[in-house]
Amino acid sequence: MSARTIAFIGLGVMGAPMAANLVRAGFDVVGYNRTAARTDALVAAGGRAAPSAAEAAEGADAVITMLPDSPDVESVVLGEGKVLDRMRPGSLLIDMSTIRPDVARALALAGAEAGVRVLDAPVSGGEQGAVEAKLSIMVGGEEDAFDAARPVLDALGATVVHVGPAGAGQTVKAANQLIVAGVIELVSEALVFLDAHGVDRGSAVRVLAGGLAGSAVLDRKAPSMLARDFDPGFRVDLHHKDLGIVTAAAREAGVAIPMGALAASLMASLRAQGFGDLDHSALLLQVERLSGREGETSN
Ligand code: NAD
Repeated sequence: MSARTIAFIGLGVMGAPMAANLVRAGFDVVGYNRTAARTDALVAAGGRAAPSAAEAAEGADAVITMLPDSPDVESVVLGEGKVLDRMRPGSLLIDMSTIRPDVARALALAGAEAGVRVLDAPVSGGEQGAVEAKLSIMVGGEEDAFDAARPVLDALGATVVHVGPAGAGQTVKAANQLIVAGVIELVSEALVFLDAHGVDRGSAVRVLAGGLAGSAVLDRKAPSMLARDFDPGFRVDLHHKDLGIVTAAAREAGVAIPMGALAASLMASLRAQGFGDLDHSALLLQVERLSGREGETSN
């Protein structure tokens, strides 16, 4: 079965451009968001708006959720007036939010009981990757469900990989968030270090990007960090949530992640200081404070 009608629930920073890309790829997209005005852009792009998540799901070949956190996905899919009740047997539920792997596995079990094929398919690549349909999509679930979802996922991402059974996609995403937080922290430390030595940081970043220190974080985040532009992007609140998933999952597996635990603590501190709505690259502010160099801006 190939999906033609897609219900898209959660039209935020990521969901809105993803839904628009599905319209562009020729799918019939029915959107729902808790803040109703967020469906306007989808309608302008040629999609449709539904008055509730359950009504969006009615008759859809596939339902995609792109919501903030595990409780949001649980309440939309399994809660009162639940989406799962409205889905027809054989259809696909693709959760693209970043949530706990154990919750992803519970959704897959609930789906199996209802005859619905469930995939966890979290993404990496940020808002830019969503807008350009170049996301990395890590998919957990049954092979046949992955094959059926492939045309939908290919319309959203450039790197789409089936990484294992239910929950495996979320485990890979947790590893992604561990790496990204650690690299942002080290890039922040390097920027403060360079500044303290009076080195031109723009030139430094250019040459660092061409060597072993080069990374997508350095390419995509360093320019806005130097410009002190911390508009999200990916909010500190969400990365804090993800590092909670990482530390809990590491503990559950009996694995020590000392750098990850430190990054989680620094992210939590940034949030506690009232910066939860800034982009996660605002870790730079935290690093500046540690050295008493708040607001130092020489580039
Ligand atoms: P966001 O907060 O911008 O968007 C979430 C949307 O869901 C909002 O529009 C909100 O109104 C809506 N929503 C919340 N509860 C709802 C409900 N019960 N019913 C319907 N709509 C509801 O978040 P985002 O940045 O788009 O992130 C979404 C998910 O993708 C998160 O799990 C995040 O961790 C993950 N993610 C984000 C990025 C990024 O760069 N922003 C990158 C990769 C993954």
